[in-house]
Amino acid sequence: MKTDQLNGNANQTQQSFNCEKCKDQEGWFYRNEEGKEYWRDCECVMKKRIERIMKSSHITEEFQKKTFGNFDHEGRPDVVVQAFQIARKYVIDYRSIKQTRHNSVALLGRPGCGKTHLLMAVSNNLIQKGVEVVYFPWVEGFNELKSDFDRVEERINRLQRAEVLYIDDMFKGRKEPTDFQKEQLFAIINFRYLENKPILVSSEKSIAEMCEFDEAIGSRINEMCRDYKVTIAGGIELNYRLQ
Ligand SMILES: [Zn+2]
Repeated sequence: MKTDQLNGNANQTQQSFNCEKCKDQEGWFYRNEEGKEYWRDCECVMKKRIERIMKSSHITEEFQKKTFGNFDHEGRPDVVVQAFQIARKYVIDYRSIKQTRHNSVALLGRPGCGKTHLLMAVSNNLIQKGVEVVYFPWVEGFNELKSDFDRVEERINRLQRAEVLYIDDMFKGRKEPTDFQKEQLFAIINFRYLENKPILVSSEKSIAEMCEFDEAIGSRINEMCRDYKVTIAGGIELNYRLQ
């Protein structure tokens, strides 16, 4: 056993460490009753992993503050409360469903109901559990893709392979998505569908409208999000930005 790591080394007392607990050794060897050595990670290892995931997730500082706790759901319409509950349930269920075909969540419909807030809360919660989430805001994401055609393949690859992919405001903007958008989106969704990799989707479009754009995309999203899908129909009174 490396006792100097456990007890502190006289020569190291002058040094300062990022983690005083493990003195940047990232863990300790322990010996069990049979005398077998095993390693245990310090909590700073998970902390660093979370920092790294958050940094590469493209989630802005503002969005990192979105939690279930600061989502205002009291007195809101039933369907908004339902979306809140489904999103929270998804986080709880995540570990047991992540490798199934129905491992994804979709919050669809009216703008201004808090869809983005709720899926940000899902993302932030998953990241705190050490899950890698990549955020792809539809409009900005495609602008970025188009700005550098040489790197499209590499970037699509990352969106295909991320542990969890959050596509925010899917199909936002123009009336019809472009062929480029449909092609790239299909490449991403189909890959993730076949590999059972979760997606989080927010969109003003319903599944039926998605299918009108591209049935192969819409039907896959529908199947993946079957168990965690809320479509917020209804009038302008649901928009909290106007209240
Ligand atoms: Zn440590």
